[in-house]
Amino acid sequence: MHEEAAYRRKIMVESQLVARGISDRRVIEAFLRVPRHLFVPKEYEDLAYQDSPLPIGSGQTISQPYIVALMLELLELREDHKVLEIGTGSGYQTALLAELVSEVYSIERIPELLDEARERLRHLGYTNVFLFAGDGSKGLPEFAPYDRIIVSACARRIYEVWIEELKDGGLIVLPLEDKRGQNLIRACKRGEKLIIENHGGCVFVPLIEENQ
Ligand code: SAM
Repeated sequence: MHEEAAYRRKIMVESQLVARGISDRRVIEAFLRVPRHLFVPKEYEDLAYQDSPLPIGSGQTISQPYIVALMLELLELREDHKVLEIGTGSGYQTALLAELVSEVYSIERIPELLDEARERLRHLGYTNVFLFAGDGSKGLPEFAPYDRIIVSACARRIYEVWIEELKDGGLIVLPLEDKRGQNLIRACKRGEKLIIENHGGCVFVPLIEENQ
């Protein structure tokens, strides 16, 4: 399985990521290393390297590999970065981040998913990942500021607390919903200003606030 999975990852990277324009070498290498099949329920293991999201339980999904790669590329990650991730889910993207930066702080609102993600990440030996149960729309002030923030569920606004917790010059990448649908947004904090770019349509599960 080990060699076969590595081969399937290589095909996934070439046909789904590189073929669609992902070019950040470090992102590509992280995708080649992280075993996606260990982040999906057993019954989906055979589908783990397909070009699609997959169910992970509790009505949630592990995102399509390409959209994860695009978000990671847009974040322009460096080895010394400290990153806040909102929506741990299966922990797959958390593992990719852990390969790319020095510290990953990740929040998940569904305790069962968080426990499973913690076990997978522990089993794979990641020591630079710190997981928290809670509502990511409230941020994680204890460890702020962050160089980068990534939100992996669709928000209806960019919460003020996220911007407060981002370093000056830092980037946040998130799916954002308005009346016309969801778009992948990258915003850069420049002093009091937020410079916003739209990177096109996307489909994510909604970000759910505690009081919803
Ligand atoms: N990137 C994840 C992966 O690799 O498996 C997939 C994330 S999944 C698309 C979105 C996750 O965000 C779900 O696990 C969901 O429970 C979580 N979520 C939704 N609202 C949240 C909130 N307010 N705070 C923290 N996590 C939240």
